[in-house]
Amino acid sequence: MIDNNMNKSIEYLKGVGPAKASILNKVGIYTVKDLIEYYPRVYEDRTEIRKIVEFVNNDNVLFIASLVPNTFTQRRLGKLVVSKGIFTDKTDYIELVWFNQSYLKEQIKENTEYIFYGKVIRENGKFKMESPSMYSKFDLSKIMGVYPIYPLTKGLSQNYLFKLVNNVLGDNLNKDKVVIDEVLNDKILKRYNLCSLEYATKKIHMPKDFKEVAIARKRLTFDELFKLTSALKIIKDSSVKKDKKIKYTDFKINELLQLIPFELTNAQKKVVNEIVKDMSSNHLMNRMIQGDVGSGKTIVAAIAIYIAVKNGYQASMMAPTTILANQHYLELKPYFDKLNITCDIITSNNTKKQKEKISERLESGEIQVIFGTHSLIEDNIKFKNLSLAITDEQHRFGVNQRLKLINKNAEVESLVMSATPIPRTLGLMLYGDLDLSIIDELPPGRKFIKTIAVNKSYEERLNKFIRKEVSSGRQVYVVCPLVEEQEEESDYNLKSVATVYDEYTKGELKDLRIDYIHGKMKNKEKDSIMDKFKQGLTDILISTTVIEVGVNVPNASLMVIENAERFGLAALHQLRGRVGRGEYESYCILKSSVKVMTRLKIMESSNDGFYIAEEDLKLRGPGDFFGIRQSGLPEFKLADLLKDMEVLKLATDASKQLFLDDPKLIKEENKLLKEDIYLRYGSNINNIGM
Ligand code: ADP
Ligand code: MG
Repeated sequence: MIDNNMNKSIEYLKGVGPAKASILNKVGIYTVKDLIEYYPRVYEDRTEIRKIVEFVNNDNVLFIASLVPNTFTQRRLGKLVVSKGIFTDKTDYIELVWFNQSYLKEQIKENTEYIFYGKVIRENGKFKMESPSMYSKFDLSKIMGVYPIYPLTKGLSQNYLFKLVNNVLGDNLNKDKVVIDEVLNDKILKRYNLCSLEYATKKIHMPKDFKEVAIARKRLTFDELFKLTSALKIIKDSSVKKDKKIKYTDFKINELLQLIPFELTNAQKKVVNEIVKDMSSNHLMNRMIQGDVGSGKTIVAAIAIYIAVKNGYQASMMAPTTILANQHYLELKPYFDKLNITCDIITSNNTKKQKEKISERLESGEIQVIFGTHSLIEDNIKFKNLSLAITDEQHRFGVNQRLKLINKNAEVESLVMSATPIPRTLGLMLYGDLDLSIIDELPPGRKFIKTIAVNKSYEERLNKFIRKEVSSGRQVYVVCPLVEEQEEESDYNLKSVATVYDEYTKGELKDLRIDYIHGKMKNKEKDSIMDKFKQGLTDILISTTVIEVGVNVPNASLMVIENAERFGLAALHQLRGRVGRGEYESYCILKSSVKVMTRLKIMESSNDGFYIAEEDLKLRGPGDFFGIRQSGLPEFKLADLLKDMEVLKLATDASKQLFLDDPKLIKEENKLLKEDIYLRYGSNINNIGM
């Protein structure tokens, strides 16, 4: 590779050095490439100098003003030093306020114009601004424009990042300057109307106006999504072609079905047929089962496992949490025991010794079915003849991890299962490499989970309601967005497991059996708390979203969600799916103190996960990233899969065209692109032999 300075360690950049480097490392910046891919979150509009008289409440404005003589004061309020002054630009007046900046007293001179930037507050007909940025008037040309705002950490300032980036991307020639090589061929650039990578990289950091930001953003977002869709395409094409060595002859499942206390729904039967068809074909199964919460995916998995084992192979079933892995194991082991099939479980709860032992028993073929968390895909676990790898709640693993799994088990059938927090349109593109089976029917007798969105005034009635449910033998979940008390100041209070537990154990319901659980606890501890809850030894379980995934306690009939506005609708739907799993009428109470009722009303009106996911997507305004992480989508530096649907469509189309034109990416014009795709997704696709 030519030396374009991209992979140079930032430590060697002008103005960095070891101390600053370690701060930059904290935000993921190690090389120059990382630095230029550290994109601004937002931009400040400093393209215009505004007149005070035209200010509007909440506007962010750049303006020039001078101090009205004798109006500057400095006062001490406890630990705080408050500096204030009235400023004018001759059109009107504005009061500027700073905190803990005692030096301003010396710095601000009368009869001198300064540039200010900040957010206008209009109170009682007067303008005010808190902590405005202040600059010398001589810097005007530098200050004006669209100013990038980077995500910061302690010891890292906007200005510092701005200078660093300017150093490597700016116009001045110097030893740190990077060369940005184009990775897309001309045809793609033209067809999708994209600017060059060099232009985009410069303009995302140093735009003159918002039009330039938009052009740059489109190009860079396209690149991220295009690399993903291309990697998925490579994987899909390779799995279609692959003939498998695995052969099954026996597809009789009656013995297992006889043990199950219910009849499969038609939707389950249909999906079982699709799986059987895959397994009996001569290419490897690569299928996703989507089915709403409670639609009965586990038993479908059990049937696939049974077929694999009956034909002399091993099968694995992986879950994202120990709680869930345990649950699978406990639910299915009784069936397998009766069928003389040996199964076991491996999670991070096992010691190294135990893991070795299990690995040995897997290698010898003694264990036929293994349940577990991602301990299952650790390198040292070997199988005798694994033919089927199942991943449950796949959306929690993320596309990247999924790709890794496929690669690791390149020669096995893959079945992934997911409730559907991802809207169909998006899912089709992201899981484009998978065949899709949908369980679109719930087992008979399921009740609609009655959902209501409420505010604080409901508190008292809620307590009565909880007591009523508990008196009739039911159990209750209370879900909070945080683990511990909130540290940072914020607009409003978020409930934490710690505070809510405190409230309950001291409040009206203190005589009930109350317990709590969250993700920061040790797995062993979590398991034992869940076990107690399952056995009915706990009435109220206060929890974070650790219980979101797949947990099955049919006796739980009420879920209370604190700060419901903090959760995406899809996440709420997943959470709510923890109740209504048994024969009892079930309820979900969405508590919220802020006005997001339109969103929460959707939860009241529907129990359909697909519908909710689509509505969620429609409703999300730009900048609402919440819920993305929970959906397990890959992390992008810039792209936002909800906001950038249009670009995602282009990228999907572009990948299709690309591989039509150059199926193995051997053309010179695609060389750098191929390198890039492999750099990002290489470990996932290396074995495929392109
Ligand atoms: P999910 O699709 O969310 O993983 P599960 O597989 O955990 O759902 O099933 C939820 C519950 O429904 C379990 O208690 C399971 O035993 C039960 N169940 C599954 N299929 C049926 C069916 N066809 N009839 C009745 N109950 C069923
Ligand atoms: Mg499940």
